[in-house]
Amino acid sequence: MPRNRGYFHVMVPLVAFFLSYVPVIQAGYGAQSCCLTLAQNLVGSVFFEGQKQYADSLGSYYSGQESDLSPSCIVRPINAAQVSTAVKILSTAHIAKPGSCNFAVRGGGHTPYAGSANVESGVTLDLGRMKSIKVNKSRGTVSLEPGLLWGEVYSKLDPMHISVVGGRSNLVGVAGLATGGGISFFSGRYGLVCDNILNYEVVLADGRIINANEREHVDLRNALRGGSNNFGIVTKFELSSFQQGNLWGGDITHDFNTLPEQLQAFVDYGGNSDFDEYSAFFQVFGTVGGLYFITNNPVYTKPTPYPPIFKKFYEISPQLSNTARIAPLHNLTTITGSVAAMGLRNMFITTSFDNDLPFLHWVVQTWKTFSAELAMVPGLVNTILNQHLVPKTLRKAEARGGNSLGLDPNRVVVIAMLSLTWTEAADDEKVRLAAIAFIKSVEAEAKKRRVYNRFIYLNYADLGQEVIEGYGKSQKNRLRAVSKKYDPAGVFQVAVPGGFKLWP
Ligand SMILES: Cc1cc2nc3c(=O)[nH]c(=O)nc-3n(C[C@H](O)[C@H](O)[C@H](O)COP(=O)(O)OP(=O)(O)OC[C@H]3O[C@@H](n4cnc5c(N)ncnc54)[C@H](O)[C@@H]3O)c2cc1C
Repeated sequence: MPRNRGYFHVMVPLVAFFLSYVPVIQAGYGAQSCCLTLAQNLVGSVFFEGQKQYADSLGSYYSGQESDLSPSCIVRPINAAQVSTAVKILSTAHIAKPGSCNFAVRGGGHTPYAGSANVESGVTLDLGRMKSIKVNKSRGTVSLEPGLLWGEVYSKLDPMHISVVGGRSNLVGVAGLATGGGISFFSGRYGLVCDNILNYEVVLADGRIINANEREHVDLRNALRGGSNNFGIVTKFELSSFQQGNLWGGDITHDFNTLPEQLQAFVDYGGNSDFDEYSAFFQVFGTVGGLYFITNNPVYTKPTPYPPIFKKFYEISPQLSNTARIAPLHNLTTITGSVAAMGLRNMFITTSFDNDLPFLHWVVQTWKTFSAELAMVPGLVNTILNQHLVPKTLRKAEARGGNSLGLDPNRVVVIAMLSLTWTEAADDEKVRLAAIAFIKSVEAEAKKRRVYNRFIYLNYADLGQEVIEGYGKSQKNRLRAVSKKYDPAGVFQVAVPGGFKLWP
């Protein structure tokens, strides 16, 4: 069922506007007729079941749950003008009959839950053919199209000795990560990925292509910094660039019985008042085949091996494996990329809390109990990844114009992400319900201990988590006002069911 139908009433002048731009959809409203109209207007860019391009698109999602969905057609535009034509057609159908022609917007396709960037029996706009990278040396910026993966960006920029604040896995898409916030190895120095986007080229619901930056449509620019697909389709991101050579980093794995030292080192790192902005770190607790392990991922954005900021972690022994090395960014981002299994059943779910040692012990012990309950699920890889956002990172947002995330810049936050991979679709429900119950228990305990943080990181969230609520009331109201201004018919609220909506 389409959401919010009652809120957005049909707007007659808007319908007239749309109909003046696109051919009337002849065969009645529905995904099939929308697909035919799209195929007539975007010759060579609309693909149907049975065609290789359709199969390639579905086969390249990160999760099996996303690949399982069968859209009526997949539009693979080659430029912003084609995105605009597609959106006009889809908006016209929505305004004439809400729910008749739902659509999804896909960047890299790395969100695991079904329906985030794909849609059953609707139209999927797969931006994967839009992969231009333009370096503007005089402006000190790099413009990226939304079909790029971060690895493709770094392959081009590394040899030029420049970089941008981007994702930590070469496989992940630019567009979803950047519109959802974006945590980078460079976040200590420059803030989140979204804080470093100077200009967004956006296709609005009425098909207009506009720019949002510090001079024009500032409200939209700020909303897009964490507001995801709620306002339009971003067709170009212009990011600040900076000089960058090799980095140092890698994965260091330990036995699980080092847990007390690991958690102590983690809390000390996040709480360090002299936080080293060149450092980035996350800690993973994992189990596979009944074995438990702890993997640390220290990264230093200078070619300095074993910098002192991570000293407490190196002192923990024994190390079972250690891939730390000096390397270009593209090489270092294959560490996380290589362990990410494509096409299996996948789930992310997340919560946030204070940097509190006793609570972290409780979380990890509770996660172990939860893991034992799921041990019989075939092929299960079960990890919980903890990382900090520290004041030095969070304060960078304000200096760059602000974002939508509603984080308190003076409070260290620990973001915990539960990530699960398994092989059989028959286990989807069992795994998902157990994961939701685990995260709810963490939230309840955090509230009891007064260490709860309402922030739910959009890029790690599962369907149904209240991400926008977690931004806080004033941010939510602001985002709603921006949506009403730029998308008065609510196309991106109702006709695009994937993502985290502003209503209700
Ligand atoms: C292996 C792996 C590593 C990761 N590493 C990091 C990391 O280092 N840092 C981090 O912050 N996150 C990380 N993530 C999480 C990641 O940021 C999210 O999964 C993100 O959504 C992926 O972006 P995408 O373009 O691939 O996603 P998609 O699934 O294609 O899209 C995600 C959402 O964004 C919307 N969207 C996509 N393109 C556009 C557009 N052009 N305009 C408007 N809306 C759009 C979609 O509709 C969808 O709702 C990682 C995920 C994985 C699987």
